[in-house]
Amino acid sequence: MDGIAPARQDEPAPPPIPAGNGAGPLSLVGADMAGIGEAVRALGEPAFRAKQLRHWIYHRGARSFEEMTSISRAARAKLAERYTLDRPVPAEAQVSADGTRKWLLRFPDAAEAEMVFIPEEDRGTLCISSQVGCTLNCRFCHTGTQPWVRNLGAGEIVGQLMLARDALDDWPSARLDRRITNVVLMGMGEPLYNYDNVARAVRIMIDGDGIAISRRKLTLSTAGVVPVMRQCGEELGVNLAVSLHAVTDAIRDEIVPLNRRWPIAELLDACRTYGGVNNARRITFEYVMLRGVNDSDADARELVRLLKDIPAKINLIPFNPWPGAPYECSSQNRIRAFMTICLDGGLTCTVRTPRGRDIMAACGQLKSASERKRAGARV
Ligand code: SAH
Repeated sequence: MDGIAPARQDEPAPPPIPAGNGAGPLSLVGADMAGIGEAVRALGEPAFRAKQLRHWIYHRGARSFEEMTSISRAARAKLAERYTLDRPVPAEAQVSADGTRKWLLRFPDAAEAEMVFIPEEDRGTLCISSQVGCTLNCRFCHTGTQPWVRNLGAGEIVGQLMLARDALDDWPSARLDRRITNVVLMGMGEPLYNYDNVARAVRIMIDGDGIAISRRKLTLSTAGVVPVMRQCGEELGVNLAVSLHAVTDAIRDEIVPLNRRWPIAELLDACRTYGGVNNARRITFEYVMLRGVNDSDADARELVRLLKDIPAKINLIPFNPWPGAPYECSSQNRIRAFMTICLDGGLTCTVRTPRGRDIMAACGQLKSASERKRAGARV
């Protein structure tokens, strides 16, 4: 593929994130126990306040210090003078006929990212973003056509979940009928190119005394930043989804340019050694179905061969077209035939059902729709 330079990990340098967390310089949303402890100390309050604050912020979802009734009035006043509990601001919110919800988030510097909630019978999944824009330029992904903007801070990442829980009336964490049971870092951006902020946000999300999302219900999706995959497996132990999308380096170099840096064999090695992988905790391999590009019977057979010694499940994603996209989605029959070969080969294989089509809730579409609308308004 000409014209597309391989993605480089050190490019471009992200601008500094506001102190603490990023959901606004003074917001405690995104602060971990160490950060909350510092805030408490700075106010001259006793150390036990940190646990009280964690409980109010991340377990009960408090949006003001005023409602923290187990904390003295004087301490609440001091906290409110110095800090906020601001979350990202929803610039737009939509609900699909099938119950899918979508938010466009606008950050104080006008950067925008999207977030989607997908309710199913036995679970509710929130898909959140880790960056505004993306440096990977996968050819079939609409985000890759948008300009890179910046990393999201930990507060902006965890703040997405908190905002969704506000909107869905999903506090406190202890309730048995929680609506958001699963979180996937599958929105905009490459989470492993923003590892420090993602790791801090993940630790806050899985803290049993706070938001308490089980690490088994938190999935990070990566295009394959091999060295950071190792670190992620060891340090966070969350579920991994890998955007494989092709079975030969020639095709994967073209559609996922990151492959030129870490080709398929290296990527699959990193999957084999990913911390905590066993048959109970399989890696999900995402595979976008592109007509005539990666969807032949031979491709499916090669996929079976490549994954035979990895605890894997395959998620076939029907390509979601966008204006000007250089690909088309494979036919339903082709997807079915591909899936049958995977199943016959002993792999677990599912096809992702498109959700929220009426509100354009799929990959990269929300932000582009809002940009088109604004562009239209200017004319
Ligand atoms: N950077 C991460 C997260 C990306 S988005 C990653 O690469 O995994 C989550 C998934 O949606 C990825 O598998 C991505 O390849 C896929 N995707 C992006 N655009 C798509 C489109 N137009 N149709 C179908 N899947 C798409």
